[in-house]
Amino acid sequence: MGRPFRFTLRATDGPARLGEFETPHGLVNTPAFMPVGTQGAVKATLHRDLIASGAEIILGNTYHLFLRPGDELIARRGGLHSFIGWNRPILTDSGGFQVFSLADRRVITEDGAEFQSHLDGSRHHLTPERAIDIQARLGSDIAMVLDECLAFPATHDAAAESMQRSVRWAARCRARLTLLRTTPLPDVTVSNQGQAQFGIVQGGVFADLRRESADATVAIGFEGYALGGLSVGEPIDEMYSVVQETASRLPATAPRYLMGAGTPEDLVECVARGIDMFDCVLPTRNARNGQLFTSLGRLNIKNARYAEDDSPVDPACRCYTCRHHSRAYLRHLYLAGEMTAGALNTLHNLTFYLDTMQRIREAIKLGTFDRFRQEFVRSSD
Ligand SMILES: [Zn+2]
Repeated sequence: MGRPFRFTLRATDGPARLGEFETPHGLVNTPAFMPVGTQGAVKATLHRDLIASGAEIILGNTYHLFLRPGDELIARRGGLHSFIGWNRPILTDSGGFQVFSLADRRVITEDGAEFQSHLDGSRHHLTPERAIDIQARLGSDIAMVLDECLAFPATHDAAAESMQRSVRWAARCRARLTLLRTTPLPDVTVSNQGQAQFGIVQGGVFADLRRESADATVAIGFEGYALGGLSVGEPIDEMYSVVQETASRLPATAPRYLMGAGTPEDLVECVARGIDMFDCVLPTRNARNGQLFTSLGRLNIKNARYAEDDSPVDPACRCYTCRHHSRAYLRHLYLAGEMTAGALNTLHNLTFYLDTMQRIREAIKLGTFDRFRQEFVRSSD
């Protein structure tokens, strides 16, 4: 097994940060974008193409992997890296977000969440301890604590109660990981001895609750800190202001991860507010729906205007799709329902996202991030 988790801050440009973290499966440069590999695969993408697009870390969804094929089966295959054949870093979520999304198929108590599988209706119990055990079997490099994900909008009282429960659950998650690190348990295979754990700051859009949550989560002590419960329908300005306030309250010595965001503009705007890590289904999901992100804004490949357009999706893009295929061909594949359409579009969108992160990192290094940000916002209008 490689080295344990370590974050190094290399440079700053205003609140924007350039850094890197080391995991048992290698190094990740930050700010970083993590493609979402829900079921142990980034949809419509080969690992080979992920590497070519510049992905250094991917995200796996604990809820999906727990239900199918099961965390114990994956542990018997040597853990998630070995099972899916990806030997670079992996972050897993806690499964909480999907469970909370089940609405009428789940019941939340102080102990945890009772829920019914969306696959076969089977009943399961997800506690903070269980979420950590499942991620220990998966053996991701970064595990997330189980938190309560509140729907937007929520009252201050509801957000406060939920945030305080998330803090109690975070403490239980940390205690469980500490136990697993020191004491072998017969029913929990630890697939990655160097697994790090991130806490999650909650509190909705309420500045006082975010502050309380950040302080309490930092007091428990994690290798990194995430901002949860954002990008759930709140106005964009509120999200940016919560990100700015919360990031500035987190220790400079640990990575900061904004969960589930966002658009290319969100990445740039939140790096500008001190965020180091992102994940989002937008580039992959939109690709399968024919929406492509480019250096000149968004493009919908279904549009009739591309029927005889021989130019690439984005002349500024280095990806395989842009080097080999025209908009006219991609439009044809999409309308014909060819699976290749999803694959080629996904490769382009991921390359665009990952190249954007690369350009962000270069700008921070050169001290020109603010100019980059202004130009980026202007060109994507
Ligand atoms: Zn491209």
